[in-house]
Amino acid sequence: MTAIVSDATYDVVIAGASFAGLAAAQRLHGRTLLLDKAPLGDNQTSACGAPRSTVRAMGAEASIQQVHDALVLHTPRREALWPLPEPFCTFDYRRFCELAFARTAAEFRQATVVRRNGHSVLTGDGEVAGRLLVDATGWRAVLAGGPASGYVNRRMMAFGIETEIAVDFPPGLHFYFLPEVRDGYAWAFPCGETVRFGVLSYLGRTKLGDGLSRFLARFNLQMREIHGGYLASGLRAPVVDNVFVAGDASGQCLPLTGEGIRTAVLAGFRVGELLQRVLDGEATFAQAAADYTAFTADARRRFRALTWGNIALLLMPLRLTGAAAAYLSRPGPLSGFMRHYLGIFADASPAPSPVLR
Ligand SMILES: Cc1cc2nc3c(=O)[nH]c(=O)nc-3n(C[C@H](O)[C@H](O)[C@H](O)COP(=O)(O)OP(=O)(O)OC[C@H]3O[C@@H](n4cnc5c(N)ncnc54)[C@H](O)[C@@H]3O)c2cc1C
Repeated sequence: MTAIVSDATYDVVIAGASFAGLAAAQRLHGRTLLLDKAPLGDNQTSACGAPRSTVRAMGAEASIQQVHDALVLHTPRREALWPLPEPFCTFDYRRFCELAFARTAAEFRQATVVRRNGHSVLTGDGEVAGRLLVDATGWRAVLAGGPASGYVNRRMMAFGIETEIAVDFPPGLHFYFLPEVRDGYAWAFPCGETVRFGVLSYLGRTKLGDGLSRFLARFNLQMREIHGGYLASGLRAPVVDNVFVAGDASGQCLPLTGEGIRTAVLAGFRVGELLQRVLDGEATFAQAAADYTAFTADARRRFRALTWGNIALLLMPLRLTGAAAAYLSRPGPLSGFMRHYLGIFADASPAPSPVLR
């Protein structure tokens, strides 16, 4: 690994080269450095289900494995079909990252970020300076404070694991509310030849192996390799000192559903656009920070509603969850819910990024 040269100054240093970091980099044409502790596309945590428009906006359509027109909600006695107002898809994470990176003008370096020191980023391989800094390191928020700081509120974090198995499965994104994961849900996301089966605890419980095994036993399947991690919700401060924070690092993963790719990409785009305006002399740092703060504040009411939905779901008996899912599958209630849900961060520009490389 090449050591980072300490006297090199970048226009923007982005810590974390996943959804939020790559989206921000796509909107920046200055001298940009993307840092990640893992090789690009190596660190998949997610089931990689997202709106097709989000994947397209990142220029990563070729990573799509399967397109889905509906959510299917299962409880022990009922099944409810929720047609989606726009198609979702499942995609290959590594391919997604490679395609998204190809649309940036950024350099990539593999290095573990330790913390920030003013305008410098300290890594395991040396120090690097940036006029502007972006934290897109996921739930740990390494530049904004780090996992042990007050910035990271562990009460607002769910935890999930999943395994990928080659098996035939009906189309749609399947969610299961079952006794084996009473404090969360299970899922089965078909992605072409394989299916990603996972379980999530809203309460951040990390011992989920037994729940996943019992869920898989319903399909006569056995666990293979697993991956996963924390999902950070709760909308943390979007700007900390001189750092713009995006994606899970800023608690932008949605409560209730655990969807965090769309929000990370849309917030990343907004961050990249605002910082480019600062670099171009069209806005001051303070104006860009105020704009990004307002952008996230606009979504706060919708986040709060999802948090209340999450709490209700935790308290509800499964019989009521099934009845609520069936009620919401009717066209009127479903379109109201989807408008609210898909409206989060919708004023970020989802237009495909230009190819900068
Ligand atoms: C099991 C599971 C399934 C999920 N399924 C879905 C789904 O289907 N759809 C959906 O929308 N959301 C899903 N989510 C949530 C989604 O994965 C996250 O919300 C999303 O990944 C957030 O993107 P991000 O770019 O903010 O952070 P991340 O994707 O977490 O990326 C953070 C990046 O920072 C890097 N990094 C971390 N620390 C350091 C460091 N110290 N130095 C350098 N680099 C560092 C990491 O290597 C990583 O590349 C799932 C989450 C889990 C755990």
